[in-house]
Amino acid sequence: MIPDSFKQDLLNRVDIVEVVQRYVRLKKAGANFVGLCPFHNEKTPSFSVSPAKQFYHCFGCGAHGNAIGFLMAYGGMGYVDAVKDLAAGAGMQMPEWQPRSREEEQRRERETDLYALLERAMDFYRAELKKSDRAIQYLKGRGLSGEIAARFRIGYAPDDWQALKTEFPEYDDKALVECGLVIENEGKRYDRFRDRVMFPIFSARGAVVGFGGRVLGEGEPKYLNSPETPLFEKGRELYGLVQARDAIRAANRVLVVEGYMDVVALAQCGVGYAVATLGTATTPVHVQKLLRLADELVFSFDGDAAGRKAAWRALEVSLPLAADAKPIRFLFLPEGEDPDTFVRKAGKDEFEKRVREAQTLSEFLIGQLRAETDLATPEGRSRLLSMARPHLQKVAAPALRIQLLKEIASLGRVTQEEAERLMQLPGPGARGPAPAPRRPTYEAPSTTEWKLLVSVLNDLELARQLDTGLLSPGLPESNALVAIAERCRASEPVPTFPMLLESLEGSPHIEVVLAAQRHAEDFRLGASEFSDALRKLEVARQGKELEAMRARMERGMATKEELLAYREKLTEYKRLQGALPGAG
Ligand SMILES: [Zn+2]
Repeated sequence: MIPDSFKQDLLNRVDIVEVVQRYVRLKKAGANFVGLCPFHNEKTPSFSVSPAKQFYHCFGCGAHGNAIGFLMAYGGMGYVDAVKDLAAGAGMQMPEWQPRSREEEQRRERETDLYALLERAMDFYRAELKKSDRAIQYLKGRGLSGEIAARFRIGYAPDDWQALKTEFPEYDDKALVECGLVIENEGKRYDRFRDRVMFPIFSARGAVVGFGGRVLGEGEPKYLNSPETPLFEKGRELYGLVQARDAIRAANRVLVVEGYMDVVALAQCGVGYAVATLGTATTPVHVQKLLRLADELVFSFDGDAAGRKAAWRALEVSLPLAADAKPIRFLFLPEGEDPDTFVRKAGKDEFEKRVREAQTLSEFLIGQLRAETDLATPEGRSRLLSMARPHLQKVAAPALRIQLLKEIASLGRVTQEEAERLMQLPGPGARGPAPAPRRPTYEAPSTTEWKLLVSVLNDLELARQLDTGLLSPGLPESNALVAIAERCRASEPVPTFPMLLESLEGSPHIEVVLAAQRHAEDFRLGASEFSDALRKLEVARQGKELEAMRARMERGMATKEELLAYREKLTEYKRLQGALPGAG
């Protein structure tokens, strides 16, 4: 789906050491970096990252791959997301994958129209706000300045069934219904938003994709959002992201709240790094998006039962996505408070203090489990263990998983090993699309083919010159060489090592190649030795041919011509053999 040229370009630009270092502490050791393997539990480092080859390999558990593979295996990301993540870090634009079809072209044109309509509507609502004393008084009453209202492009939808008609003389246009501004019912058309303060919702790239509207008085529903449209998918968008981006980067923290008033009130009080989900529960897309922006993610929910339920849902979504180096926290405000009311009452400092002291994901998880079990009885402790199981199974971050396991084991009064068995945890790296790493079993042989393989890995250009017909068939190292030669001939320029590795992933050659790669770091054949090794194979091949011819002669089956050919071949064979190094 993603073109190889882009992937190659991307892998050339990113530094795997830097990518791995985001999650694993690495130390320089010779040409490589080493550290404790994040995919298995160990006390002495057998995890090695090669800046020259741009790949990682654990000699203990066999985990290996390039930068993309690392993000998939460690971060639990899908392939496309891993590529996107790296591309964003490297400042690269993701390529268009397919030439657009005519339908696609039309869809895009249509969307451009819808964007334009929504932007016009936003301008209309903003102009209406300036005319409405009632709406202005309402916003002032909530402590909002004109500056903040302008920053969030807040507007007002007048109390009129067809207010938009003044802005859109083409009120009958189907597109107004399509983008959610107008409702069509039994042949009648009217504005969706009436007598509401309007909060435009922007996509990550800054286009208006929908609106949230809050009633001025006591009407129902209190909050009304645009419906899902071709432009607006609630599970993907976050309110306030565009405005919060700089503050998120500066604080290296992002706060997720429930409503747009919370976001705006927090910004007004100097807490600029808040965003809100849009009337939906937190989705994995939300969490992934946010973890890419900052190292710390804090969910803030109301202190009531509904808030706790929403928080639990966010926890469940976050479990597989939590990374060891990126803490996720849960802030519960006092009963009856939401971030909007609380920050206005208590102020920025008190609010931020609570954010810093917010419960960690593990505290929240374990606290909740404890609250539902009676740890004084064996039955209660068993219940705790069985309730913890589905949650622990979801955790992908290795260190976090071990920490949770230890904690739960101690609460359940079992050993860590017993807990591990009870939880039936999958092996590290077993989740996601990355194949489960296996302990390497391949032993380095002493064949000429092996030496060739090792030197080819040091210089993939050599693979192109390789006459694979010379290789002894059936050897694993021969098969790997054939596969590598094919791969190298198929691409121009020759692939880099990480690309090669990726194309061999899942094949039986990978284990041989990884074993040879280990040796490639220790020894290297010079160019002349490489050709010597090839000549050796050529001699061996001719020797076999001679043997076959001799067998025919001995049985008296050879013709005169064959006898002559044999003699010629023998001379050539002796010459080649004499030229081999070490032949004296
Ligand atoms: Zn390992």
